Amino acid sequence: MLPASFLSSLQNVKGFNNNSFEAIHASGEQVTSIRINPAKWTLDTNRFLNNSVSISPENAVPWCKHGYYLPERPSFTLDPLLHAGAYYVQEASSMFLWQMLEQLIPSTTNKKVLDIAAAPGGKSTLLASYFSDGLVIANEVIKARAAVLVENCTKWGSNHVIVTNNDPAHFQSLKNYFDLIVIDAPCSGSGLFRKDSTAINEWSAENVKLCSLRQQRIVADVLPALKKDGILIYSTCSYSPQENEDILDWMIENYQLSSMACNLLPEWNIVENISTKHGATGYRFYPDKLKGEGFFIAAFKKDFLSENAYLKEQELAYPSKKELQVLQSFYPYAEHGAIFKQNNLYRLINKEWMHDLKLIAKHLYIKKAGTEIGAIKNTDVIPSHELAVSTLPLENFTAIETDKETALRYLRKKEITLSSNTGWQLIQFCELPLGWVKVLPNRINNYYPSEWRILKD
Ligand code: SAM
Repeated sequence: MLPASFLSSLQNVKGFNNNSFEAIHASGEQVTSIRINPAKWTLDTNRFLNNSVSISPENAVPWCKHGYYLPERPSFTLDPLLHAGAYYVQEASSMFLWQMLEQLIPSTTNKKVLDIAAAPGGKSTLLASYFSDGLVIANEVIKARAAVLVENCTKWGSNHVIVTNNDPAHFQSLKNYFDLIVIDAPCSGSGLFRKDSTAINEWSAENVKLCSLRQQRIVADVLPALKKDGILIYSTCSYSPQENEDILDWMIENYQLSSMACNLLPEWNIVENISTKHGATGYRFYPDKLKGEGFFIAAFKKDFLSENAYLKEQELAYPSKKELQVLQSFYPYAEHGAIFKQNNLYRLINKEWMHDLKLIAKHLYIKKAGTEIGAIKNTDVIPSHELAVSTLPLENFTAIETDKETALRYLRKKEITLSSNTGWQLIQFCELPLGWVKVLPNRINNYYPSEWRILKD
């Protein structure tokens, strides 16, 4: 049963239909959708047939290029391709971010993007795919959740993502820096009532109020970091006007921002809502009107320059000439990127982002930047898992194709048997790498990260 005070708070919201809204929540109907990773799930999908979730053009999410509905919910945990980063399980309404980007930021070249409330990584992986030639900073304030964000961004494999673990206020030092900031704000979560009924008992009007104050604080904290003419996208998975239209009105009252609208196709059944005070446009997604959960999203252009501050850089540690030789002989592609050293591990990032990395390192706590290549032990390299699942070229390594059973044994970090030459080898499934093994004359060492191993039978 949905709380009566919750339902009554929505009576005057455009598009809200009490009867059909209650009925869809009572129906038990569930919608499952995924967004495929265009850097890993290429047009040649035949290799995934019968081995993964099945997708077809008829089941495409209409507003997102890489989104697909699934006919039923499979056991994602037991699909090796999920662990290989071939797709991300994401709620369909929230994929509308892709549509907004296509309409509002058609040119993606060299864009710097911040996802301020990023864990577990749904929006960040979408941004990484959209801004494939940009730089994406995925930030999460809660440490444990930042670890999940690192895991999901690692599996996605993009080399142009930096994961940080900071409070939004820390971004104030990066004045006028980002072309786009996405605030997928922490909220009262009513949009997820259908998926997660425990959220229903946690809902209260007081919490909506607390959330709206927190949302204002986050906006105020990150706005200085947006460039003039940069775009701010604000979203929640709440239906409450206090967390949506009222926040849009509050933004316009306090800052020089222009609301930005998108074109909607009527068959999408997304409801356009205009805020009462200042006429800002937002889009509401109702589960009784479309195939997706409750969601709200709006966009603004920043019309002012924040007071500029000199941005300092932090010098990074770099490999010595000898270390560089060792790394390049193990991984020849390393010479194409910039390599830096962090806690005795070597990382590679595109050369063009090195300056930005130094700025970010000065002001923020970095959990992951670019791709970790590995550690050096004597004259050998111990490769990192990040390299195995990255989208960097890996042709110089030997890859061993396995069946699903072996892939799952590998992902459970159990012993596997293979006939192969000795040395470091990639284990792959459907031609997508899952991680490393080291083949020794008498055994095979499984290097899958212990903390990510599958525990489910
Ligand atoms: N963007 C994510 C995605 O698409 O996968 C979902 C983000 S979730 C709606 C909101 C996030 O904000 C949570 O990860 C939460 O830990 C974080 N959060 C909580 N309090 C916060 C605060 N005061 N400032 C910034 N983020 C906060």
